Amino acid sequence: MTRDELLDLYRRSGALLEGHFRLTSGLHSAGYLQCALVLQYPRHAETLARAIAERARAWRPTVVLSPALGGVVIGQEVGRALGVRAIFAERQDGVLTLRRGFMLSPGDRVLVVEDVLTTGGSTRETMQVATAAGGHVVGAASIVDRSGGRTELSVPFHALLEIDLPTYEPDACPLCAKGLPVVKPGSRPVVA
Ligand SMILES: [Zn+2]
Repeated sequence: MTRDELLDLYRRSGALLEGHFRLTSGLHSAGYLQCALVLQYPRHAETLARAIAERARAWRPTVVLSPALGGVVIGQEVGRALGVRAIFAERQDGVLTLRRGFMLSPGDRVLVVEDVLTTGGSTRETMQVATAAGGHVVGAASIVDRSGGRTELSVPFHALLEIDLPTYEPDACPLCAKGLPVVKPGSRPVVA
């Protein structure tokens, strides 16, 4: 899958919007990304997962670990493509943890899979969960890397699509400075 095909898939699904947005954090951005809108189509999830698996197979993972909720769907599909288990970590009292009887053993080679890597924080946290549970993290992957390839991890990392989507404080937003109206993602365009 080429970068253009991926971008096209995201745009057609409404998962990548370009314009001038006010994010939930209050920051402004020229782009809005919502991977769930692509992953709602199982055949797209399958295609993306196969592309990730193609790259990750060389790391010989024995289990895929994803942070809930965002990583669950793609993690499951990558597990299917690799023919290995797919488990997830979830927050309990704010701390990412393995629940539901999910376990890792010292022989487990863990691949951490996420839908989107923003700063790498959640990937690092998921890697720590794997290590604490006795697994060995062999690599990490995501569909999108919105840090534009700037994130450093201590293991090999692959993203299918790198996009640079900077965010701005409202009073330092170049799009506001240009006088472009700001919209909240998900809201319908207002017809004047
Ligand atoms: Zn703005």
